Amino acid sequence: MRIVFEGGSDTVTGSRHRIEVNGTAVWRDCGLFQGRRQEAAERNRTFTFPPQHIAAILLSHAHIDHCGNLPSLARNGFDRPVHATHATCDLCQIMLRDAAHIQEQDAAYLNQKTNRRSLPPVEPLYTLADAETALGWLKGHAYHEPFEVAPGLRAAALDAGHVLGAELTLVEAEEHGRTVRVGFALDLGRRNLPLLRDPEPLPPDLDLLVLESTYGDRFHEDVHTARDRLFHIIRTTIDRGGKVLIPSFALERTQEILYHLHVLQTEGRLEPVCTYVDSPMASAITRVFERHVELLDDETRALLRSQGSIFPPWVRFTSTVDESKQITASNSPCIVIAASGMCEHGRILHHLKHGIERPENSILIVGFQAVHTLGRRLVDGERRVRVFGDWFQVRAEVHVLQAFSAHADQKDLVEYAQAVRPRRIALVHGESPARARLAARLEEVSDAKVWLPSPGDTIAL
Ligand SMILES: [Zn+2]
Repeated sequence: MRIVFEGGSDTVTGSRHRIEVNGTAVWRDCGLFQGRRQEAAERNRTFTFPPQHIAAILLSHAHIDHCGNLPSLARNGFDRPVHATHATCDLCQIMLRDAAHIQEQDAAYLNQKTNRRSLPPVEPLYTLADAETALGWLKGHAYHEPFEVAPGLRAAALDAGHVLGAELTLVEAEEHGRTVRVGFALDLGRRNLPLLRDPEPLPPDLDLLVLESTYGDRFHEDVHTARDRLFHIIRTTIDRGGKVLIPSFALERTQEILYHLHVLQTEGRLEPVCTYVDSPMASAITRVFERHVELLDDETRALLRSQGSIFPPWVRFTSTVDESKQITASNSPCIVIAASGMCEHGRILHHLKHGIERPENSILIVGFQAVHTLGRRLVDGERRVRVFGDWFQVRAEVHVLQAFSAHADQKDLVEYAQAVRPRRIALVHGESPARARLAARLEEVSDAKVWLPSPGDTIAL
């Protein structure tokens, strides 16, 4: 068995690993590489291994950096099963169509630019038709039910506790009478995250654990103190007549915030507050959560039994642009949850444009903000920012709640590796400082050989 580290080794996007057994090749994940436009376009269009020679794909979860380049395969001769949990299959219906829409819009925007008029038109990386083709390859599985991926190669999914439907994948290869077992723990969630069950341990004594290291050099705040801080920000903002504007990722973070609001209300701390989810995508994803309550943790299911719903029944999900405009035009106190999570596009920009200069408002940042994004400028405390090309003074209060991360931190990663006791660990999915610090810590506390693969590296087992 060979593992080739094709993508997402020293970066946190574009996850792709090739597993080769008995002359057959399989990919785990086919994520979109996100970064500078030119580099991203090249990386996402080019495959170092011919997709038509891939026998199947094992898909870990519905985040775009893991599934978002599947539609590109529709243009590269791939036509094989993509195995994932049932919930991941449902979420991909929403995520991949949205990703295709963004690709089409991006190409249309570039083609409109006057300085491109003499150049050939930009082709989108993929289209909605390609996404539909990719959705046709999805094959749903339950957790803990091993299945045959290719001759001599079996796989099973364990709960990753990262986002709904996310899996840790155990692959077992039978080759020349020998069994080799590899576990993929990327992305790995955290214990005690709202809604989700805790990450499950992969079986002990793996030949190799491929482990993420996104937050390998950090320690997160406790999830429970985050709910108290959320409550305090909402209480003080609403009491002074302001709006709480929450830029939020449509998958998981929006549902977590809604869950916290519901718990605060059932505890008698918060009365039903006028709350809008102003994101059709987040609304659609919320319905997928309601369809898969069997995957949620005991506390969430207890809330469902006692209250009849997971999310607060008083939340309003807007669908039309007119409804959204009415909320931005009104200055009544309320909570608005809208995408995009890094304030790069989407309806949150309209809410910021109307609300950012009002000192009674709060902007609550609850997710990771990449450099050069509007969200990052707000986190960095810039007092003047551009929204839709116009300059605005930041007079609203900006709050940052870091505790909502869905990724394991250094302590979680080390404890996870100690529980699994693999013979070797390959650290991937992290930038250099995070990988190096985590590697040093793992070498201190475990007997495993720790390796930091570079893109294109191969390990034979
Ligand atoms: Zn993820």
